[in-house]
Amino acid sequence: MRSYIINFMKYRSSFFIILWVSILSQNILTAGELIGVRHSVEDNQIRLVFDFNESTEYNVFSLESPNRIVIDFFDTQLAGEINNLQNNPLIGDIRYSSRNQRDFRVVLNTRGLVEWSSFELNETSIQPNRVVLDIFSSPTTINDARNIIVAIDPGHGGNDPGATGPTGVREKNVTLAVARILKEELELYDGITAVLTRTSDRYVDLWDRNIIAREADADIFVSLHADAFRDPRVSGATIYSLSARGAGSEADRLLVNRENQSTILGDTDLREFPFPDLTDELISFYQEISIASAKVLGEHVIDQLATYTRVRKSDVQNAAFIVLRSPDVTSILIEMGYITNPREESMLSNPQGQRDIARGIRNGILSYLIENAPPDSLIAWNPPKLPSEPRRHTISWGETLSGIALRYQVSINRLRQANNLSNDNIYEGQIITIPPG
Ligand SMILES: [Zn+2]
Repeated sequence: MRSYIINFMKYRSSFFIILWVSILSQNILTAGELIGVRHSVEDNQIRLVFDFNESTEYNVFSLESPNRIVIDFFDTQLAGEINNLQNNPLIGDIRYSSRNQRDFRVVLNTRGLVEWSSFELNETSIQPNRVVLDIFSSPTTINDARNIIVAIDPGHGGNDPGATGPTGVREKNVTLAVARILKEELELYDGITAVLTRTSDRYVDLWDRNIIAREADADIFVSLHADAFRDPRVSGATIYSLSARGAGSEADRLLVNRENQSTILGDTDLREFPFPDLTDELISFYQEISIASAKVLGEHVIDQLATYTRVRKSDVQNAAFIVLRSPDVTSILIEMGYITNPREESMLSNPQGQRDIARGIRNGILSYLIENAPPDSLIAWNPPKLPSEPRRHTISWGETLSGIALRYQVSINRLRQANNLSNDNIYEGQIITIPPG
């Protein structure tokens, strides 16, 4: 069975928790009720979800000899029951009791070397307040640690060309070129494996892209696109994560229609949600977490991509893209720039520009992983350093040195020094070095 659990979510989510707990600790007045415990199991991981009728303050710690994890829920009583797990490789007996007439304690006897993380989710229209505890077997040596899998999705392909630029550059070709470079750039780092949802100019159904990512056990899914607009002056990259509520603005709705339409251009019609192994409950549960972690991933990508190209919106945008709907993969969609803008069409179609965009995205993924790598990953054992390498820029007609300095957010003096320029004269086709910002 495929992984239900994406590790980064835990790590990112534990960040949220710290905030929640500090807020919630001030307003406990009446006893809450623990109304049930759910779990999902996969490979070396188990996720326990404690459902409450109200927000609950809690504390988790582990003890040795024998190994166990203890969770105290404050001002809480049990309203349901807790069953033992059958033959779980990580958890043996589960015991529980009230403490101090007020609190409720759960003790999990654990097997082998385990690590855990926890976080809290507020109630939604379909879910109660929850505390989530993830437990996973810890790699005992660096040799046991796993690679992070990044699925890269080159948008469009085959008889679906996507958008077209003023000189005829096609989105489907740009997305594939950047995807190939991004794979290469990511795999320069130990502990990262990248897979592409297509490797040639062919059409792949949007749901199939999700399925490819899930079958590869992807931790992260990055869908690459290029934007289009009737006004050629509009430029810049935009990063999207899935919104449960659908697209925000009217412009976003149009974009979603355009990107989602591509499924109709192919051989298949819009299909049903294709993950029969996931129940509705699991879908809503995991989707909420993956949306939260995707937003964080998107923020890292915005920060890093902005040092290579213009980013139009400084926040992650929400939209209801089909391709982002794997409920348990941290998924973002990147509109890398406007193919209808002549300067960006040129950047998107030339190899140096493509490498710049790929490196910006790669650095965003790396910086996300540095903070959120799951503890069973090689990246967690051996975190990468963000590169601060010089970049290169090919001068287009009409560009000025001061404009380039502004775009890359480096001083004009550093630009002159890095290129041994005695004045600000530059010419079309000249390749200059951009020092790290
Ligand atoms: Zn597209």
